[in-house]
Amino acid sequence: MKKVSNPIEHDLWFLGRIKSMRQKALKRRKNLSTFQLERPISFWIKKDRLVNEIGKEFTIILRTKGCSWALGESGGCTMCGYIQDATIEDVDQDQIIKQFDYAFNNKIKDITDDEENYILKIFNSGSFFDDNEISDKIRMHIYEKVANIKNIKEFVIESRLKYINFEKLKELKENLKKKHIEIAIGLETVNDYIRNYYINKGMLFNDFKTVLNMCKENDIGVKSYLLLKPPFLNEQGAIDDCINSITNLINLKVNTISINPVNIQKGTLLEYLYLQKRYRPPWYYSLFKVLKKSVNQDDLKYVRIVSDPSGAGTKKGIHNCLKRECEVSAKKTLRNFVLSQDLTTLDQSEFECECKRQYPFEKLFH
Ligand code: SF4
Ligand SMILES: [Zn+2]
Repeated sequence: MKKVSNPIEHDLWFLGRIKSMRQKALKRRKNLSTFQLERPISFWIKKDRLVNEIGKEFTIILRTKGCSWALGESGGCTMCGYIQDATIEDVDQDQIIKQFDYAFNNKIKDITDDEENYILKIFNSGSFFDDNEISDKIRMHIYEKVANIKNIKEFVIESRLKYINFEKLKELKENLKKKHIEIAIGLETVNDYIRNYYINKGMLFNDFKTVLNMCKENDIGVKSYLLLKPPFLNEQGAIDDCINSITNLINLKVNTISINPVNIQKGTLLEYLYLQKRYRPPWYYSLFKVLKKSVNQDDLKYVRIVSDPSGAGTKKGIHNCLKRECEVSAKKTLRNFVLSQDLTTLDQSEFECECKRQYPFEKLFH
C-alpha cells in the first residue's frame, strides 16, 4: 500500500499542536491495576439495526496498548481522544482474552436465551488486525467463541487500512462462515484533502477502494465511518462533504455507512478549537438534510445507514438549540430512522422548534 506523505507536514504549527495536545493527553492516563487490565473498557447490549431487521447489538470495547497512528509520529486524528483509554502498562494477550471472556460470559446467557438476533461489535479503539494490539491468538480465541452462537448473525470489527490483508480476511471468513461480517473503516470522507489536511488521517481514498475490493473477494462487507463536520469546515461545507461521501460510497456498494457527527473529545486538536470558540459541533438539522439529499429509499435496500452519536444533545456533541424538547425530539427522529431505515421518519419529528428558523443563518458562519 502506498505510503501517504503527510500533507500537513509543512504546517509545523498545526502538526506541533496536534502532537503537544496528544502528549498532554497521554500524560493524563492513569495507572491501572492487574484487575482493571483484565476487564474491558466497557460492554453493553442495546437495540440496533441489523442488516434485514431490528435486533440487538452486543458491543465489547477491549483495552489494548492503543492506536498506532495516535501513538506514533503523526499524533493521530484531530478529533480522536480514544488513546486516553489505552494502557500505560503493557497489557498482555492473556489479559485481553480475559477482558473478552469477562464480557462474553457476562452476557452470553442473555443472548442465547433471547429470541432476537444480534450483531456483535468488537472494538479496541484502534485496529483489530494490528498484531501489536490484538495478536493472532486473541483473534482465534474470539472467532472460536463466537462461531457457534446461532443468534449472533453479524460480526463487526474496526481496523485501519494498513493492517487489513488477504490472509487476515480469509482467516476471519473461514472461522465465521455463517455470519455476516463487516470490517469498519474510518474513512471519514471521500475527499483526500479534508481527510488528510483537516483530520490528519493519513489515508487515501484509492487505498480504501483497494481494501473494499479485497473484502468483496472474501465475501466480507465494509462499514464506512463518515465524520460529519471535521474541523475547519463550516456547517454548509460539512453538509456538502458528507453528501458527496455518501453518494460515492453508495455507488461503490459499501454495506453500511455510519455517520459520526463530531463530538468533542478530551486532549484533541478539536477540543482546543472548541475551547477557543472556533468550532461548533453540527446541528441535527444538518444531519437530517444530509440524509434526505444523499439517499433514496431504494438505496436503503442495499446499504444500511446508521448513526449513534456520542454526546448527542449536549454542547459537545451534535445538537440544535439545547432546549430539552428540541434535543429529545431530534434524537428520537434519528433513532427511528436508523432502526426503520425509512426516510419518511425524518419528517415526523414530535417537536417543531423555533430554532429551525435561526439555523439557516447559523450554518453559514460556524
Ligand atoms: S480515529 Fe482511529 S485511526 Fe484516528 S487516532 Fe483514533 S483510533 Fe486512531
Ligand atoms: Zn431548538
